[in-house]
Amino acid sequence: MWTRRTFLEALSTGSLATRRVTPRRPSRLSERDAVQPSPAGSRAETMREGELVIERPLAGRPHAGKVLAAIQPHSDDLALFAAGTVAKLVSEGYTGCLIRLTNDEKAGRGATTGEIVLNNEHDNDAVGAALGLTKVFNLNYRNHRMDNESRQEIRGRLIHIFRLMKVDTIVCYDPWGHYEENPDHYVTAQVVESASWMAGSSRDYVEQLESGLKPHGVSERYYFARGPQLINRIVDISGSIDRKVECNRANVTQGPAGENGARLRARLATEKRRLPILGNDDETANRQYIKQVVLDLDSPALRGVPSDRELGRRYGVDWAEGFHYIGRPESRLEQYIAENAVAL
Ligand SMILES: [Zn+2]
Repeated sequence: MWTRRTFLEALSTGSLATRRVTPRRPSRLSERDAVQPSPAGSRAETMREGELVIERPLAGRPHAGKVLAAIQPHSDDLALFAAGTVAKLVSEGYTGCLIRLTNDEKAGRGATTGEIVLNNEHDNDAVGAALGLTKVFNLNYRNHRMDNESRQEIRGRLIHIFRLMKVDTIVCYDPWGHYEENPDHYVTAQVVESASWMAGSSRDYVEQLESGLKPHGVSERYYFARGPQLINRIVDISGSIDRKVECNRANVTQGPAGENGARLRARLATEKRRLPILGNDDETANRQYIKQVVLDLDSPALRGVPSDRELGRRYGVDWAEGFHYIGRPESRLEQYIAENAVAL
């Protein structure tokens, strides 16, 4: 039976993606064929059809001078699905900003709606700090109601930010991910995708250009999803997994991470039991619960995606995140001209 899990696994191993993307190469890519070496320089590789790239940690700060925008509808999205990659890219030289689309009024703790909004805003700020992102934009659309908002308005605001910050790379939900049930997720993803290339146009939102901004399109996109998606990039987050844990620890108001390790430890104590992996204090319990339970043991139940550790194991690394990556192909024309042009 073709279960959702089977479908996910097929996607993450590249077999289904290969069939869907490259009908001329229907055979399943072997892992050896699929794994490509990581780029030696700062420039990410150009994707070709059917390839699955393993993006490994890069030495030094090869991304220095480049700007990243990490974009999420809610304060816990990036932490759960892409924080390892964002932290890795920042450690390799990116500077960046965090953009949150909603006010998170429907999620988490607080006695009133106002309290919930404030608690999530504090958490979101802490997420940005944990990821090393130096600027936070809160667009504050109403939680669970983004399908009622003007996409033109959201797009215009995002294009403004992309031009203002000169964003080169974005990390966000996949606009082509399947079975996404949350309207905030799919509206954000779809608007971000259109804004990412329209920001480079000199004909769109020209009033921004009149105010002094320049057209600036996004060059690289890392798209994550909770359901089946075309995965063509596996990012080795072994070096940033602990930063991902810290990012998830920041979400104490909503989501499966935060302080749930301490709560589990307290519950077990009332039952006169303990789990050795949770350690002997609340802080350790929170860290360990996130790393061992949320991101690994109980990942399908708590996040709806396979374990980061299991995904990594498939590709010979300790921890990994999967993405639908879209780069900007380089033109070969000038090289062709240099090699083949003849005198008149
Ligand atoms: Zn969300």
